[in-house]
Amino acid sequence: MLRLRGRPAGKGRRLRPDSYRAWEHRRVAELITIAEARRRVLASVRPLGAEEVALTAALGRVLAGDVVSEVAVPPFDSSAMDGYAMPAGAKGRLAVTGEARAGHRWPEALEPGAAVRISTGAAVPAGTAAVVAVEQTTEEGDAVVVPAAPQGTNIRRRGEDIRPGDRVLAAGDEVSPPALGVLASVGQTTARCARRPRVAILATGDELTEPGAPLAPGAIWSSNPPALAGQVLRAGGAVERLLTVPDDAEATRAALSQALDSADVVCVSGGVSVGPHDHVKGALASLGVAESFWGVALRPGKPTWFGTAERDGRSVPVFGLPGNPVSAMVTFQLFAVPALRALQGADPTAARAEAVLDEPVSRHPGRVQAVRCRLAAAADGLHVRPTGAQGSHILTSMLAADALALIPTGEGELRAGERVQIELLGVPGGLSSPL
Ligand code: AMP
Ligand code: MG
Repeated sequence: MLRLRGRPAGKGRRLRPDSYRAWEHRRVAELITIAEARRRVLASVRPLGAEEVALTAALGRVLAGDVVSEVAVPPFDSSAMDGYAMPAGAKGRLAVTGEARAGHRWPEALEPGAAVRISTGAAVPAGTAAVVAVEQTTEEGDAVVVPAAPQGTNIRRRGEDIRPGDRVLAAGDEVSPPALGVLASVGQTTARCARRPRVAILATGDELTEPGAPLAPGAIWSSNPPALAGQVLRAGGAVERLLTVPDDAEATRAALSQALDSADVVCVSGGVSVGPHDHVKGALASLGVAESFWGVALRPGKPTWFGTAERDGRSVPVFGLPGNPVSAMVTFQLFAVPALRALQGADPTAARAEAVLDEPVSRHPGRVQAVRCRLAAAADGLHVRPTGAQGSHILTSMLAADALALIPTGEGELRAGERVQIELLGVPGGLSSPL
């Protein structure tokens, strides 16, 4: 019996080969837009908890709360130059009465008619009106000849960078290299960060062989697990497990069941279409994972499946990604990356921008095409140019790509010079390796 509308084509419900075309045709009308798919994904995820993370391990993490400084930075008025601190109205020959060095005790107050030698970063003595750079002065024994300088010259004021009570970083901000520096400058050794989503990655297919093992006839080396794992790390997630599963209903079910018990997010690649050896949807249905969508008006990536499982009070998003290597990476980028960001309380739309298309691209009447592109910045903004052949098995097309250009549906071609929505690949973030 032919079952349509997202029903599993598992045992006893196999599609007859001649039905496949009919399924293909019918499904086009049921495909949802990328925006709708993302809306459904985001509607099903809630931020995970928070944890205190040492700054040495916090690079790329997402802050779980605002960071409000209790202190002023700089903490005291200090010199911006090596030179001489001098009182108001001073110029000409001044007696040098001492030295203020960076990191040393507060110097005595300046006396009228006197100057203090001072280093960059040293606290200025009380009564300092200005610091004159050493290059502008002439030393004469125990005295120095200085030019007049306006009040405040070369003095960095206390709190000029950060005042007590300033919010220096906000919840959802990424811990970037400067954020690490700012956190340290206010004295923090840790940052409160969103927990990293633990992602289970399952690859399905009898043909899949681990690189390193010899290839039997008809077999290929499995490329989705490392590529997807890299994307997980870049999106701030942690890889909870990497598994390869044969095209077998029971093995698929068992692997998915275990993944659902321990991971925050499950990504399974391949086996999500309607072939007689595609067991993912059937296994997910039998495990009670509620389907949210199956089929997106996207090329590559049409058979993408998404649903959620309820496990021990947790809601686990499950992505069924198409097996073709480019399709898997593109759909991970468009749907799973926003989910991973949202789980960490970060902006899920951060990678979206607009660019001018520099080469014509033929349109697809029913599906938005995610075209791998090189990005260039020009005077009039960002420009994109396709990286070459765009087949969903041409994984090398991803190598040179900085962005996916989303080519709207339509007839004919989208002309060069048109503006397109783009999705930036490899936006900074993730990779929270210890310093
Ligand atoms: P499927 O979605 O299972 O029908 O697979 C579609 C295509 O992607 C087939 O050519 C598979 O051999 C290929 N494929 C599936 N999984 C992987 C993988 N892990 N690495 C490389 N190619 C894969
Ligand atoms: Mg397969």
